[in-house]
Amino acid sequence: MKKNDEFEIDITDIGNDGEGIGKYEGMTFFIKGGLPGDRVLAGATKLKKTYGYARLVKVLKPSPFRVTPLCPIAEKCGGCQLQSLDYKKQLELKERKITENLIRIGGISPEFISEKMDPIIGMDNPFRYRNKAQYPVGTDKNGNVIAGFYAGRTHSIIPNTKCYLGAEENEAILGTILSYMKDNYVPAYDETTGKGLIRHVLIRKGFTTGELMVCLIINSDKKEELPNQQQLINKLTEIPGMKSVSVNINTENTNVIMGTEVHTVWGDPTISDVIHVRDMQKDGYPFTGYSLIFKISPLSFYQVNPVQTEKLYSLALEYAGLTGKESVWDLYCGIGTISLFMARRAKQVYGVEIVPQAIADAKENAKRNGIANAEFFVGKAEEVLPAFYNELQDNNLSAKESSPAKTPKMNGMDREKSPERSKAQMLHPDVIVVDPPRKGCDEACLSTMLKMRPDRIVYVSCDSATLARDLKILCDGGYEIKKIRGVDQFGHTVHVETVVLLTITP
Ligand code: SAH
Repeated sequence: MKKNDEFEIDITDIGNDGEGIGKYEGMTFFIKGGLPGDRVLAGATKLKKTYGYARLVKVLKPSPFRVTPLCPIAEKCGGCQLQSLDYKKQLELKERKITENLIRIGGISPEFISEKMDPIIGMDNPFRYRNKAQYPVGTDKNGNVIAGFYAGRTHSIIPNTKCYLGAEENEAILGTILSYMKDNYVPAYDETTGKGLIRHVLIRKGFTTGELMVCLIINSDKKEELPNQQQLINKLTEIPGMKSVSVNINTENTNVIMGTEVHTVWGDPTISDVIHVRDMQKDGYPFTGYSLIFKISPLSFYQVNPVQTEKLYSLALEYAGLTGKESVWDLYCGIGTISLFMARRAKQVYGVEIVPQAIADAKENAKRNGIANAEFFVGKAEEVLPAFYNELQDNNLSAKESSPAKTPKMNGMDREKSPERSKAQMLHPDVIVVDPPRKGCDEACLSTMLKMRPDRIVYVSCDSATLARDLKILCDGGYEIKKIRGVDQFGHTVHVETVVLLTITP
């Protein structure tokens, strides 16, 4: 085969970026726009030894799973990759992706996986589910300011202020910002020249409270840089639910969307949202549950799909198997959501998170919910956990001793507030929960977890490839996988969340 040769191919799978995958004469081809079940005419664009890329020339026989996407630009926009595929089929593919990664990277047998895996938890309505949107702002060919989404794998902006995955209010908010920019000649940021002012617009909505937050990410270190700022604020605050307007400073020439400095220019620095989780059904009793309220800052991580988050957290709690006596570490804890739900059912919880603002929110959230048995530490999980472990070991105290732990090198942690904390509890917790970003856990974190030997590890993962890699390390260290379950937090995209329960025989 040569470049540009055309050939017929059946699409059988989907790749990491949502591209169709099929086999032709022993070679694997990646074809953007092809969906599983399609027979397509493809034109080779790039050929390697065992695989290649091809462009979709024509769909010859459409997949029985093809549907008309709700969004008219779904196929151009890089936000969704699977909107043209029936939602049930999306779930099936996501489950398959988890399974394949566990087999290929984790070295786990297909039989073992099917024995341990429960059916993926899908969404009842896979639209309008996102509580957060980050729109890049730019300028089109005619000089008009636009906001939308990046086309897949590029930085060209597809104008779109009406995204069907996000909150309905986003459209009015973006419309207001774009008209303000036009009226006041406020230039959009141009990443090739590093000039221009507004880079991104972040919008968040508390689904249960209806509260809205808008944060403009600007290419200036002066928070007053927005001309005629009051005009913008007046317009934004006409939108029902508006609670917080802020600017974020980002003058770096980088792909990282937000800088570290945020200034509230109107209203509160945070919005609130309520999450309700259900306890496991026990002895024929109906489900019980409880709610907690959370404050969210522009810079803090907060799960983007609040409806599915309740299912995800309920599952994590079920796997943690808490009775009220346990000590728990919640690593990568964000604003302390999982930590605080666990705290309600455990003796003591320790949360670790890298973003200082998120930890400030976590502490505030603990107070707000009247929770006193959760402590939070700022730092990298792979540094904080080993530091505690090594130092408690160095102190040469017996692990069984229940004296308050002293870790003098761990600066900035208010240990006087935690008379309950004992060295044994911290060194050998009953449960460790991890919920790392896509790159998974650092080895230093995993090896310390193995030394701490908690009875149960609950791994919440947003990337099943790094999950599989980390599970291999934990299983080599003596842990056994008990349960696996996918939760779809991101309908119409290729992403999927997975929760795994591991235990160790004492
Ligand atoms: N469990 C939380 C957050 C999960 S997202 C929730 O459900 O909301 C992952 C979190 O890990 C983010 O808040 C991110 O800031 C944090 N993080 C990223 N790298 C980290 C590291 N090396 N150590 C600790 N936290 C980290």
